[in-house]
Amino acid sequence: MSGVEYAYAKLNLALDILRKREDGYHDLRMVMQSIDLADEVSISPRSEPGMTVSTDLPYLPKDEGNIAAKAASRFFAVSGLPPVGLSIDIKKRIPVCAGMAGGSSDGAAVLRVLRRMYAPDMPEERLAEIGALVGSDVPFCVHGGAMLAEGRGECLSPLPSLPPCWLVVCKPAYSVSTPELFSKVQVKKLRCHPDIPGMAAALEQGDLEGVARRLYNVFEDVLPRKYHQIFEIKSTLLGLGAMAASMTGSGPTVFGLFRDHSPAVQAVEVLTAQYPSVYLCRPL
Ligand code: ATP
Repeated sequence: MSGVEYAYAKLNLALDILRKREDGYHDLRMVMQSIDLADEVSISPRSEPGMTVSTDLPYLPKDEGNIAAKAASRFFAVSGLPPVGLSIDIKKRIPVCAGMAGGSSDGAAVLRVLRRMYAPDMPEERLAEIGALVGSDVPFCVHGGAMLAEGRGECLSPLPSLPPCWLVVCKPAYSVSTPELFSKVQVKKLRCHPDIPGMAAALEQGDLEGVARRLYNVFEDVLPRKYHQIFEIKSTLLGLGAMAASMTGSGPTVFGLFRDHSPAVQAVEVLTAQYPSVYLCRPL
């Protein structure tokens, strides 16, 4: 038996940093939304023990450095099931180091396939707990949809997904270092914080306008000037009719929220002429 699973990307509709903890991590409060941009993860058992990982991006790790392999190891270690030799193949569609949880999503897809193949009675909650041992975004990716995520991102409460809309997603050619950004955050000096209860209420009411008004990521407050393209992409999206635009995660990817298809398509055309990775997506 083998299994194939889509590993969906996420966007942060809101990202707030509440405090720095004694253990050096930060307590976050975020609204995360899965979108229909996805990697394709295939798993098949093999006769030899151990794991092989192949991907269509040669620079990604092929050992336990790959989040997909780490997830598979944790699955067998924690569930107590005897480890099985596996071949994992990943077709990457989600840009890497983009703030879209591509690696975490691959790890979550591996967990879902392994549950289906070897532990069909395991509750999704248990799978998410195993995911938390792999990475803080993995539990969200196990469930998908829309969630309020707190702590390091692993404490989850479900929310209704965005009402139907179009998301134009654009990643500049560079990446932003997440540790560098966190090192720039002084929580007391952040100028604004997103209205996350208001956003949750807007999602509950299916109020796209209310969600759009509250899109906000506090990391944008501390972005060094060298990342100016992030603000240029936001301006382009807003100029082309996006209801709102924001960076996702620790960037550098930016997305614009559109009610209607045709301005979203036009925004994709304009941005594609300037940036390497542009996608027209829908919320899941
Ligand atoms: P997040 O939004 O969760 O912060 P990200 O989108 O910024 O994540 P990823 O693309 O998930 O970043 O991964 C970043 C790092 O993880 C890279 O250094 C990459 O080499 C490593 N990595 C390990 N496994 C994978 C994988 N399956 N897909 C992508 N990156 C992976």
